[in-house]
Amino acid sequence: MRHLLDTRTLSRDDALRILDVAEDMRDTQSREVKKLPTLRGKTVVNLFFEDSTRTRISFEAAAKRLSADVINFSAKGSSVSKGESLQDTAQTLQAMGADAVVIRHGASGAPHTLATSGWISAGVLNAGDGTHEHPTQALLDAFTIRKRFFGDDSRGRDLAGFHVAIVGDILHSRVARSNVWLLTTLGARVTLVAPPTLVPQDVSAWPVTISYDLDQAIASAPDAVMMLRIQLERMNAAYFPTEREYSRRWGLDAARMGSLPTASIVMHPGPMNRGLEISADAADSPRSTVLEQVANGVSVRMAALYLLLAGERPTTHPQEEAR
Ligand code: ASP
Repeated sequence: MRHLLDTRTLSRDDALRILDVAEDMRDTQSREVKKLPTLRGKTVVNLFFEDSTRTRISFEAAAKRLSADVINFSAKGSSVSKGESLQDTAQTLQAMGADAVVIRHGASGAPHTLATSGWISAGVLNAGDGTHEHPTQALLDAFTIRKRFFGDDSRGRDLAGFHVAIVGDILHSRVARSNVWLLTTLGARVTLVAPPTLVPQDVSAWPVTISYDLDQAIASAPDAVMMLRIQLERMNAAYFPTEREYSRRWGLDAARMGSLPTASIVMHPGPMNRGLEISADAADSPRSTVLEQVANGVSVRMAALYLLLAGERPTTHPQEEAR
């Protein structure tokens, strides 16, 4: 793998390879010494043009646990705010010897431009671009579902036969888009549940079922319900009457959770608007995988960095190298 730009074009084999390497990485993370020497001497740049807490920290932890050097570059307070272009920034990073660039950008397609422009030779990882994609989030979500349902027997498995409901602000969500592609590539069935105003116009071309009724979707007994954040910062119009009305019709609360099959899990990519799309008891219930998603994110990003920077699966198992 040269870059990780989206899940739309990610093959089933590549997706499973990332998930399986992430299993190996996860195994190393329960040890006292979590650090592996694998990417010693490599430089990973976190290039963040949009705010992020968990994704940036997660990539930083992942790179450091593989012994790479990490440079955090946030656009605020940098020359970018003085008008420097993506090209100039990229070429500066290239001159500093970046081996991988993790980029988050408000414009859909920015990571693709960076990867194909010829400005840099580094591998590019998309950490969220506009409303387009957030591939490592979808990978960590798939990893989390696999882990919850198959436990130690997860390796090599896809998600055939699973039904996932993705609920809420689909329109502004790169997480939803990346999940739609990855989940269907892995064999799962996806239902999108949202008010009509928050369903994208081009959705008819997506391999999904649309529902406007959360209670009906819950009655269809999905294995996982993925709640999305209402992205108020991307909303330039009134998409629903009031927040109260939204949470009454589209929010996951204790009553709705009670109607789900006992084995079903509740997911959220974070950050959560508690009391809006998800109630505190749903977010904190034992079925909620919110914190597992965060922990698994580090293992999945270690796997992605590893596959981009160290090539194919090693002859030495990462666990052996840890010694
Ligand atoms: N953290 C995710 C993202 O960057 C989800 C969200 O912001 O709601 O897309």
